[in-house]
Amino acid sequence: MTGPTLALRAADLDTADPLAHHRKLFLGSDDGAVRSYLDGNSLGRPLATTLDSLGSFVETQWGGRLIRGWDEGWLELPQRIGDQLGRVTLGAAPGQCVVADSTSVLLYKLARAAVAARPDRTEIVVDRDNFPTDRFIVEGIARERGLTLRWIDVAYDGGATPADVAAAVGPRTALVLLSHVAYRSGYIADVPAITAIAHDAGALVLWDLSHSVGSVPAELDAWDVDYAAGCSYKYLNGGPGAPAWAYVAERHLPTLDQPILGWLGSADPFTMGAAYQPAEGIRRLVSGTPPIIGMLAMREMLDLIGDVGMPAVRRKSELLTAFAVDAVDEMLAPFGVVLASPRTASERGSHITIDHPAFAGMVPELWQEGVIPDFRNPGGIRLGLSPLSTSFSEVAVAVEAIAARLATSGGPVAGGSA
Ligand SMILES: *Cc1c(COP(=O)(O)O)cnc(C)c1O
Repeated sequence: MTGPTLALRAADLDTADPLAHHRKLFLGSDDGAVRSYLDGNSLGRPLATTLDSLGSFVETQWGGRLIRGWDEGWLELPQRIGDQLGRVTLGAAPGQCVVADSTSVLLYKLARAAVAARPDRTEIVVDRDNFPTDRFIVEGIARERGLTLRWIDVAYDGGATPADVAAAVGPRTALVLLSHVAYRSGYIADVPAITAIAHDAGALVLWDLSHSVGSVPAELDAWDVDYAAGCSYKYLNGGPGAPAWAYVAERHLPTLDQPILGWLGSADPFTMGAAYQPAEGIRRLVSGTPPIIGMLAMREMLDLIGDVGMPAVRRKSELLTAFAVDAVDEMLAPFGVVLASPRTASERGSHITIDHPAFAGMVPELWQEGVIPDFRNPGGIRLGLSPLSTSFSEVAVAVEAIAARLATSGGPVAGGSA
């Protein structure tokens, strides 16, 4: 190899990184047994402050205020955090975001609301490479409502393009459901262009931001998006099973017709009334009691992202994935590893996928040596680079560990699995 080693180049990048000092704010970042954590796009690390805020919530809020807590701020928390999320990461004005349920359940509610708003239309457009839950939810709705799914096929290293969507939508389209950043390839969809194409056809859009929120900036209001939803346990570090969030554009709120009518989405829950009257505003998307403890950790992360600013987060994310792609080209391509993500940094989110037939058996071994990426069928390793908690050195450690395993498993092989 010519030039400095990967590890030395990574160390230089870490030294030059203006955000590097944030990494030590995360619990476990000094755990020597985890040499490289590249799964922050699946489960972000906890912030150290989360330990205190959860403990103090249990002690003083739950333990001290007891049932009075609901009237002293807990009931408004899903909307307060929703507004913060909208301001810090989504480009959404207040009153349009709420924290609730899981992503799967919110996708169901929003997709059902969308088809209810287009009663004369019979088709939902979705791409075949979307996350399973997204595909399954609209399959279920199609079955339930007698609708047809119109599938978009995408490139293995890409995602749905404006041209793909233009070819799929028409006068029968009720809804287009796509991901902002593809969970597998990392491809960033052109949200404003695709949204405009869907609107020109008279359809509504539902964007899944699970793999972008907190790592790739969004401008949901400016992009004229109708509905959006996403996870909080990935780049928002909300913790395992933390509730999801939803966005409904203000213009749709007065008529939003969602399918799970619960008391906390009704106009005046505590009258215990006889008939359902929807609440004004985004609260009408809520069904039941908000999962308060589960939404505390993401607030710490939103505070941090708000301080750092999304443009700086995005800059670091692009540098991390660019370094990862260079490292893969240099150290893994000779073994037949194929990049299954866009080559241009501005076209991908904060993770890349690399393919090789040997990867299925390799990931458990990597985990054992403290190198933690994740595996995606059939032969993909995903390297998820969480901008505030991942170092360039962690990328180098992982790529070197993969190279070492490929070298001992029989040298160069022809072709990837793509
Ligand atoms: C992670 C993810 C989900 C997860 O949904 P849950 O209901 O939280 O299990 C859904 N969609 C996409 C695109 C994801 O990346």
